[in-house]
Amino acid sequence: MLIAVRDQLGEPRRVESLPDDPDGQLTLKTLAKALDLIGRITGNDGGSLGLHPAVYFYGPTGRHSSALFMGTVALVGQKLANNDKNFFNRFTSVRADLERVLIDHKDVVATILQRTSSAGRVARYMMMLGKLIEALGAAQAVGEIELVQFAGLEGKILTGTSDTAQLSFSQDVKSAAFIQTALLGAMKCPICSGYLDPEKSISYDHIVRAREGGTGSIRNIQLTHPYCNQSVKS
Ligand SMILES: [Zn+2]
Repeated sequence: MLIAVRDQLGEPRRVESLPDDPDGQLTLKTLAKALDLIGRITGNDGGSLGLHPAVYFYGPTGRHSSALFMGTVALVGQKLANNDKNFFNRFTSVRADLERVLIDHKDVVATILQRTSSAGRVARYMMMLGKLIEALGAAQAVGEIELVQFAGLEGKILTGTSDTAQLSFSQDVKSAAFIQTALLGAMKCPICSGYLDPEKSISYDHIVRAREGGTGSIRNIQLTHPYCNQSVKS
């Protein structure tokens, strides 16, 4: 909730600093903002990016990471607060590349967050994700070194290598297997090539638009992100 009412610098406001709300109007406004923000992350509303949790919110061990979740929500919340409508188009245009980087480097991101005090993790991840999206938008190649830079850390971060002669499975190998399995068979959006989360977020799109003669036939339907159907295509 505090993320939804953060000011334009992206700093969440403290509850004590918020004005009194005698008739409840402010509370209603805050709830509406929070709902608007949640509706951008998941759900079937037209602006929903429908972020796949395994890509955006799971750490390398396949567990939900509150730093990844809150950092992502904070970034989207900041763009909404700044009324930065271009952000959503930029995000969508680099989405396939972004998801590949996030999936391939979950262990690097986890290590970056481990090197950060728990109080600073959300801000750190928010900054890294924002810079990553900008870099991909500028067609910059992004690997481990760039991710460490985007997070504002110096030096090299060593993560385990996946090829090994040891007989037992390392944690990294188990992690990679989990993420691979979680996304195995996951559908992709034909408009942006990002992963779909069909249980929570889906839009039924006319391949040929109705106004251009497209019918409601099974041959003319495709499943897309709600945002892609509403904003990218039209
Ligand atoms: Zn899409």
